[in-house]
Amino acid sequence: MANAGFAAAAVAARGVAALLGGRVGSVVDGQVVEGQGAAIGLDDPATGLPLLGYADAGAAVARQAAAGAARAQRAWIALSAAERGRRIWAFGAAIRAEAEALALLECANTGKPLRDCRGEVARVAEMAEYWAGWCDKVEGRVVSVPSGHFVTVRREPMGVVLAITPWNAPLFTAGWNVLPALAAGNAVVLKPSEYTPLTSAAFGLLAVKAGLPAGLVQVVAGNGATSGEALLGAPEVAMVTFVGGAASGARIAGACAARMIPCVMELGGKSANIVFADADLPAAVQGAQQAIFAGSGQSCVAGSRLLVQRSVHDRFVAMLAEASSRIRLGDPLDGATEAGPVCNARQFAHVRGLVEAGAAAGADVFTAPRGGVPEAGFWVPPTILAGVTNDARVAQEEIFGPVVAAIPFEDEAEAIAIANATPFGLAGAAWTRDVGRAHRVAAAVRAGTFWINGYRTIHVSVPFGGFGASGHGRSSGQEALMAYTQAKAVWVETGVEPALGFGHRPAGVGG
Ligand code: NAD
Repeated sequence: MANAGFAAAAVAARGVAALLGGRVGSVVDGQVVEGQGAAIGLDDPATGLPLLGYADAGAAVARQAAAGAARAQRAWIALSAAERGRRIWAFGAAIRAEAEALALLECANTGKPLRDCRGEVARVAEMAEYWAGWCDKVEGRVVSVPSGHFVTVRREPMGVVLAITPWNAPLFTAGWNVLPALAAGNAVVLKPSEYTPLTSAAFGLLAVKAGLPAGLVQVVAGNGATSGEALLGAPEVAMVTFVGGAASGARIAGACAARMIPCVMELGGKSANIVFADADLPAAVQGAQQAIFAGSGQSCVAGSRLLVQRSVHDRFVAMLAEASSRIRLGDPLDGATEAGPVCNARQFAHVRGLVEAGAAAGADVFTAPRGGVPEAGFWVPPTILAGVTNDARVAQEEIFGPVVAAIPFEDEAEAIAIANATPFGLAGAAWTRDVGRAHRVAAAVRAGTFWINGYRTIHVSVPFGGFGASGHGRSSGQEALMAYTQAKAVWVETGVEPALGFGHRPAGVGG
């Protein structure tokens, strides 16, 4: 397959002109600010050719962003809760109005198929609508104490939240982490991946256009080691929410610990997709493809370990290989394309290295897309590594590419044991017609999300996050409001006799 016709650079340039006023940089106090640090070059993932370049924000821009966010947070919390909700709703409408331009820009930058990018932009607008409704429902409570005090517990915002995001779903992850923080009354400094800053910058500008205070959503475009570290040291930052790899996560959690500020960590996974012999096998084949090949496997919840009951293992692997050969690889900007390249050269090298390691260790490699694989660019075809044991590198390390390790098991107990035999605990699934077994396995597998006879669905209203090395904390659903606020207890001395206690006196007794 040739690469002719890929036009990502032109699409990116048009998107930058339409959404960013023609400049790539950070968004500080409502303005695009060009960086002061080293040059960063972005490639078109589909061709490997240069896409565009920009400058790392650097420490001065990072400090300016954090200071501006603190000012904007004071203006934000001074608005009524209902007004904050209306403005977040308007932000969602602004995202909907620019949906196609955002999807095209995301597609050009990440190499993710356009139809997937369109879906992700729509999900971000839905997130804004969901969180808009929560603004005036952040409620406290009254606690009965055995003294004469009236005690209320208020939920107060943290202040400035630093949200650090990865490159695999940049706009989706921005919405996922920024919007609940805003609904809880915070300002956010968003630090997108250096590989994919474009739609995050557009998100920051659209926030201001929609009526959020300038500075409430700051975006700092640049490298982790420079701009990211500068933000971690900014005194205004009161909390960090991080989505990314385990090594960066450990370093960032350490920086938070040193500053005694809380963090939510959403890290990687090595999730087990478990197929029992009694499952609807054609449905499970479709689910297994969704689990690992959607987004070219660059998904934290990817079902990268396919556990198949031994009696159907070889048949299932053959069915999956056949179905996967029909996945349409091609120009990500073509709305019919089903699988794109991986996002960047570093990831391409990482994925290919692990496939080679799997083959060298004796795995049977199945990969044969019928339409071929483009020659240039960062293309990895859907790949099945079969005959793998759970202690192999490809079964233990996150590949973050369209590569699944198929592992046979004998019975339910062994499936659970294998599923739990990695340090990760992000997600998992079981395919079976046995209702009792479905519930037993869901309860026994150590994971923050588990699906029965399905895979991949997540929603802003449902808590999402990891167990073990996959992280801690939850940044969606009602749980997020707890994460993005802190409790303040207010004790009011009422003068009521302490022995009886306030609120403990039966009606009509005493006086
Ligand atoms: P990464 O850890 O390399 O980078 C993530 C972000 O951290 C980037 O913005 C980067 O610039 C920043 N960063 C790195 N070092 C930093 C530092 N010292 N200080 C401040 N910021 C720093 O991850 P990646 O390669 O961009 O993304 C892939 C990883 O993300 C995978 O492991 C994947 O599983 C994970 N991920 C997890 C989830 C989830 O919700 N659990 C979702 C998507 C991706």
